[in-house]
Amino acid sequence: MSNLDTTPDVTLCHPASDQAVARLYTPRAVPLGGLRGIQVDRLMPQRALPTVGAWCFLDHFGPHEEPMRVLPHPHIGLQTVTWPLAGEIRHRDSVGSDVIVRPGQLNLMTAGRGVVHSEISADSLLHGLQLWVALPSSHALVEPAFEQHVTLPRLVSSSLEATVLIGSLGDLTSPATAYTPLLGADLRVGGEATVPLRASFEHAVLAVDSPLEVAGTAVPAGALLYLGTGRTDLSLRGSGRAFLLGGEPFPDDLVMWWNFVGRSHEEIVAARTAWEASDTSRFGIVTGHGGDRIPAPGLPGVRLTPRRRHPNE
Ligand code: MN
Repeated sequence: MSNLDTTPDVTLCHPASDQAVARLYTPRAVPLGGLRGIQVDRLMPQRALPTVGAWCFLDHFGPHEEPMRVLPHPHIGLQTVTWPLAGEIRHRDSVGSDVIVRPGQLNLMTAGRGVVHSEISADSLLHGLQLWVALPSSHALVEPAFEQHVTLPRLVSSSLEATVLIGSLGDLTSPATAYTPLLGADLRVGGEATVPLRASFEHAVLAVDSPLEVAGTAVPAGALLYLGTGRTDLSLRGSGRAFLLGGEPFPDDLVMWWNFVGRSHEEIVAARTAWEASDTSRFGIVTGHGGDRIPAPGLPGVRLTPRRRHPNE
């Protein structure tokens, strides 16, 4: 998946809250142009919640029976995490990957200095999450890479099934490559459960398909509860699926525009220019699409400037 907004927002990700809080965020529907009216529920970034740890983007798509056909498009400065809940997606990219992305398997693409990929649904039913992780400045320009983890650590109890996509939950650690202290876990709750958290991390929980009680707060299906930092455990109650995000509050201000994460207006403009010029030395090529690609939208008529976190919203 990709940010196919034709007029993408400019977002600055800013350092976060330094205490435990419980704030609910509802998604905004974003139509994806050219995809027969498909829309996604965008949970991050939001004006008041640009990041949770290094997580800087969260889309919830489906369940629906519309095919997904996302032609080659570029990314820089981030990792994409594709987490299908139902349906299969064929992923191809400029580092030579051509894989089927299946539920329960982690697909992690590191864009670094530049990557191109396409995603075409291989199934009629589609439901899933697409997340981005901002790379720290020390690794923002790493070589692009793709990894698929078919087997991930799982914690199974009578009331909880947890799959650790990235980072550690208790003593379970994912093999996925992360460049900052981070956590991503899929939780299936059936009753009452508690999972351990790191107090130095900030966390948020998405109630994917059912209302859940999270840390004593009722979270409607489809909503995200931001929990701040300073918590050592998380209580969950109800029956349904949740997604837990966490990480050490991201230290840098980030400029996000379209499918790019950077630290300055100039960096974003350079990436857009290279894509529009078909600069294959920057982005490489995805084979199998001929010349089909998603053109970059026009830049806003103003300089891409930071947008600050608004802690009281
Ligand atoms: Mn993409």
